[in-house]
Formats: sequence, C-alpha cells, structure tokens
Amino acid sequence: MGYEPRTQAIYQITNRQSISVEPPTRLEDLWAADVFSLSKMKKCLPKAVFKSLKKTIQTGEQLDVSIADMVASAMKDWAISRGASYYAHVFYPMTNATAEKHDGFVSIQGDGSAISEFAGKLLVQGEPDGSSFPNGGIRSTFEARGYTAWDVTSPAYLMETDNGVTLCIPTVFVSWTGEALDKKTPLLRSIAAMNKAATRVLKLLGHSDVAPVNSSCGPEQEYFLVDAHFANSRPDLLLAGRTLFGKPPAKGQQFDDHYFGAIPERVQVFMQDVEKKMYRLGIPAKTRHNEVAPGQFEIAPIFEAANVASDHQQLIMTLLRQTAKKHGFVCLLHEKPFAGINGSGKHVNWSVGNATQGNLLDPGDSPHENAQFLVFCAAVIRGVHKYGPLMRAVIANASNDHRLGANEAPPAIMSVYLGSQLEELFNQIANGEISYNYSHKGKLEFGVDTLPPLSKDAGDRNRTSPFAFTGNRFEFRAVGSSQSVSGPLIVLNTMLADSLTWIGDLLESELGKEVELNTAILSVLKEVMQKHGAVIFGGDGYSAEWHKMAVEERGLLNLPTTADALPYLKEKYIEELFEKTGVLSPVELESRYEVYSEQYILSIEVEAKLVIDIAKTAIYPAAMRHLADISNTIARLEEMGIKLDPDNLKKVAELTNSMMSKVSKLSAVLPKKDFANLKEHMQYCAGTIRPLMEDIREDADALEGEVADDLWPLPTYQEMLFIK
Ligand code: ADP
Ligand code: MG
Repeated sequence: MGYEPRTQAIYQITNRQSISVEPPTRLEDLWAADVFSLSKMKKCLPKAVFKSLKKTIQTGEQLDVSIADMVASAMKDWAISRGASYYAHVFYPMTNATAEKHDGFVSIQGDGSAISEFAGKLLVQGEPDGSSFPNGGIRSTFEARGYTAWDVTSPAYLMETDNGVTLCIPTVFVSWTGEALDKKTPLLRSIAAMNKAATRVLKLLGHSDVAPVNSSCGPEQEYFLVDAHFANSRPDLLLAGRTLFGKPPAKGQQFDDHYFGAIPERVQVFMQDVEKKMYRLGIPAKTRHNEVAPGQFEIAPIFEAANVASDHQQLIMTLLRQTAKKHGFVCLLHEKPFAGINGSGKHVNWSVGNATQGNLLDPGDSPHENAQFLVFCAAVIRGVHKYGPLMRAVIANASNDHRLGANEAPPAIMSVYLGSQLEELFNQIANGEISYNYSHKGKLEFGVDTLPPLSKDAGDRNRTSPFAFTGNRFEFRAVGSSQSVSGPLIVLNTMLADSLTWIGDLLESELGKEVELNTAILSVLKEVMQKHGAVIFGGDGYSAEWHKMAVEERGLLNLPTTADALPYLKEKYIEELFEKTGVLSPVELESRYEVYSEQYILSIEVEAKLVIDIAKTAIYPAAMRHLADISNTIARLEEMGIKLDPDNLKKVAELTNSMMSKVSKLSAVLPKKDFANLKEHMQYCAGTIRPLMEDIREDADALEGEVADDLWPLPTYQEMLFIK
C-alpha cells in the first residue's frame, strides 16, 4: 500500500473507461461549421450590404454603421438557429488570457413581452466593466470606462460549452479616450504600420501594383498532459501551473524515445477531439506529434493572417484546456512544468506578404525576386539587432524565464540564424565582393542580377537559435507556450515597419543620386550588414563561447530574467519606435510595463507562498512521520540487542532541519514591500526570492529520495509523466 490518494489515483487511471471515439465526420461537413463566415454572410445579406462588409473585412476599416444593424440581425438569426441565446464580446486583455462579456439577446418590450434582439450598435460596440482587468493606471489617468468593438477582420463564431451555445464576437478593447487596453488593438496598428512601410519599399523597388501587405503567423503549440487525478493532488500544479517540488524520475527523456514516437491511445482520442473542435471553428489544425519530453505534445495549425492566427491561437489554448478536462487530463501550458525535463515553447512562424508580390520573405526564383527578398531579410536583421532587447522583453514572464537561458531552450540573447548559404551571401555583401563559388563560370561580378538562386531548403535548421530563418519565414522560437502570440507579432511587425522606413529613406537618397536600382540596393544591404551584421549567428546558441562572444565581441545583450528584460520597455528608443509607428503611445507603453512587471512579481510571490505552504504542511509532516517510524523501530531493536545503522535517520533529520530553516528565511523576506520602483522589486524577486525557493526545493527533493514512498504526499514525477 502506498500513500492513499496516490494509490487511489493510480487505481482510477488504470481502471478508467476509455472515451468512445465518435465516427469520423467528413471534413467538408465540419469545416468552419461554427463560423459566421463570408459564405454564410453572402447567403443571408442583401448584395450591397455584403459587398460593403466584404470590403471592410479586406481593408480592415471600421464597420459602416449604416449596415451594422443588418449584419447584426443576420448574425443573430444564424446564432439563434444554432441554439445560441447569448452573445459575448471576446477580447484579449494585457494578460495572456481571453476575456468575455456575455449578454443575452433578450429585450423586454413595453407590454412586458420579450423578444430576441441584437442591434447593430451592440455588435459594433460593447461596454464591459473592465475595471478588473490590468490596465497599468490608464483608466485612472483617463476615463473609467472601456469599450469593445468588433474587429471585422476576425469572424464571429459559436462556442459550445456545458452551459450552452454562445455567439462569440472577437473585439478590440480600448479606453473611452481610445487607449488600447488589450493586445489586439496594437496588433492591428502594427500591421497597418508595416503595410505602409512595406508598400513604399515595394514601390521603390519598381512595383506599381502593390496590394495591402499583411503579416502571417503559424504558431506551434507545445503542451503537457497530466492525468487529472494526479494534478488535483498537487496544489503547485493547480495554482502555479508547474511543479515546485519533485525529484527527477529514474527514466527521464534520455532515451529520446518519446519524440515522434507513437502517440498513446488516450492522448490520440483527446487530440482528435481537439482537432474536430478546431475544424468546426475554421482553425486549420495540421500537425500533431509527441514532443521531446515524456507526456509532452505539440499541435500546429497552418499559418493564417497574423490577426486571425492570433485569435485562433487563443482559442486553441482554450480548447486544449477545456477538452483535456473532458478526457480526465489537465493540460499544462506552462513553460516549465517539470524541472530537469524539456520545457514548452510556442514557435511563432512569421512572414509578410501580399496578393501581388506574394511572400516577401521567400527567396523566389528570379534575381529580381531575390534582390527584393534580400531587402526584406535585411530589414529583419536590422530589426533584431536594434530591437533585440524589446524582443526579449515581449516574451519575458516568470514562467518563460525557466526556459530561456537554461540549457535546452534558446538563450536569452537575441540573434538571427540565416543558414549557411544566406549567411555567407550577406557576409560577402558586407565585404563588397560577391564571389560565391556557385556563380556563373566562377566570374566575379558585383550586382544584384548576379545573385545566386537561393535554395529554399531550410537545410540544417538550427534548433539553438531564438530566431531562425526557415526557408520562407522566420521562426521566433523563444516565445513561451503560455503566451499570447500577439505580443511577439506586434514587435516583429513594428520593428520591420521601422527598418523598412529606414531602408526606404536610404533607397530614396541613393536613387536620388541617379544610380541604378541594383547598385542602390547593394549599397543599402551593405550598410545594413556593416551596422547590424553582428546579430547574425549560425553556431551553437547554447554554448558558453557564444554567451561570451555575443556580449564581449558583438555587443549583444544577455538578459536572463524578466527583471533584466522588462525595463527595456522604458528605454527612450523603444518609446520612440512605438510612437513614430503609431503602434503604442508612451502612455500605453508605460501601462504595459506596469502590468507585466506586476504580473511577474505577483506570480513569483504566489509561488513562494506555495513553496512555504507545501514544505510546511505536506513535506515536513511526511519527514516527521518517517523519522518517528524509523526511530521507534531502531529503539525497539536496540532493546533486543540488535543495532541498526541510523544513517538514513540522520540524513532525513538534517535535510528536514535545513529545509525548515530556509522556509523560515523565505517567510521572513517575502513580505518586504519598500522598493523604490518596480524594477527594484523585480530584481528582488529574481535575485532573492527565486534562489531561496530553489534552495528549499533542493532539500525537499533530496528528502523525496530518503523518505518512505508510502508516506510521500505528492504524486511523483514518475507517476505524472508515465502513467496515462
Ligand atoms: P517545425 O516543427 O519543423 O518547425 P511545423 O510544420 O510543425 O514545423 O510548423 C511550421 C509552421 O510554420 C506551420 O504552422 C506552418 O503553417 C507555418 N508556416 C509555413 N509557412 C509560413 C509563412 N509563410 N508564414 C507564417 N507561417 C508559416
Ligand atoms: Mg518549429
């Protein structure tokens, strides 16, 4: 017999009834069934209204109020015919969460009767009581109210839960005076800024027909599944999303037998269920597989326009959590749920393109396309070099700090991986001599026309780079699994907008000197490389040599913790970047700094309290019971003249004493509040509180290896990772 709740959990899991798999439905019937899609709108709206709406969707402009009533009414009829009685404005506050405000369609008439109603103004504008959402002081400075408004570029959809069906409308969330209180507003603004700068550069490159440029995103989501019986008896997993204690299992991921291995049947049924729901919502689920760690999996949809991809990513996180519950799992989206085992990331694949020139980060087949590609690629290189600390700051939170810089995830230094061919080419451009061996007859020529055909093969994909070129897009690999992709996309689009503006100015001034376009392009590329080439790195990002070289020779910043990274949001040049691109005003940026800093401090404080609680109320008593058992036995045996070695006793006693004295220390330092500013408070969390938590864990995990297993109160790593 083991510890009762653990034994019970194992019994429940091994005897569980498997959830029956529904017969597969044809994809054609499932696809976007729950989305108020363009084709559905076309069927139920007058021609002129549909045309106007379609135009709004394609240009991202505000919905014409004169047609709003008709659109709202059609949307309501469709939703009601599908069983909905409520609608919700869905918005994305400055956390990584999705928020909703639900309202009924019901409207009471003068005679006391009720009808279902949904006026255009309710579609275009809602008024959630947002005072409970973090806003970093914006609302006290400005107006107390905030409002939501439908983002017409993201379609409305139906969400089915145990409580029924709700019509969900993706919205922006802004203060009464127009300050963004959410992640969608700046994302839309960043796309607009990037579009403007990219269009200008494309025109300078000689295109007259230029369609709106948008950015695309294909996010890969990693996650862990743990049986709910185990998770429910781990307060740390439930409240902090990660284990604060736990000895590594005898078998970890050393055997690499999980990656691309067969997906356990129970998990497969879960995945099918998630995918089915995704298809109904028009989310193009594509790949699913096991990840490196035991119990870890991945799901990736096909890429979509950044704004829609971001809304869909939020839905994927919701669906994963919800569906896991139904299947008796808890889905952990935390970046590092288990120490000593790979963490989870969310690779943000990102590119920019339009309908006329296609994917602008695709090398293409002709020399001209190649030149254009190199210009856009150079813009990205400059962006990462100039705004690397911002990229680090936007993915900084307490949980992602466990990944970045640890020896498995990308380092906390931002660099660009290009692949050997492209890197060589850029280096040659920097040196002013393009002399690639694969050129025409080995001739040394200097001109963009002579650029080699660039291979699209991503080739030796560098897994240690935080930001890698992968053939026709960049992959931001340092993003954390629990994070919204909006933040990273905002930064990528904004820094690209800034770089393209800078490049546009340079090109214009070169072309003003009456030089050939190709010559102008080459001199721009050369300048980018000379000023910003230091950010390109193709070697092992995990190595100690790189960490030294990056900082000492390349002048790049290594920002290991959130406390180091977030203060960059307050730098003047970052403020200027957001202000001149119109993506965030200084007030909006400041509010973000405050919100993210406070979230960081809060999550570490919650974890520290949990560490103290669990150590005192679960681990200490287990150790004491163990000591009582053994010391009794030793004493009794001694009476009989039998001597037992008291080593284990001594060790457990020592570890217990040590752990409890550190617990007292942590309890004493935790309440400190007299900090000069948020930065100082964050540094205190990173430098004082976190290390103490780690120290306590060290003793506790050592105790787990000494104390009798049937007394150990917490489900073990072995149980959580291997019993499905
Ligand atoms: P891997 O695990 O090898 O990195 P995956 O196939 O799992 O690759 O995921 C790659 C992701 O990149 C997918 O979501 C895919 O749709 C996306 N992607 C492909 N092309 C683009 C593009 N042009 N822009 C944005 N994302 C893209
Ligand atoms: Mg990837």
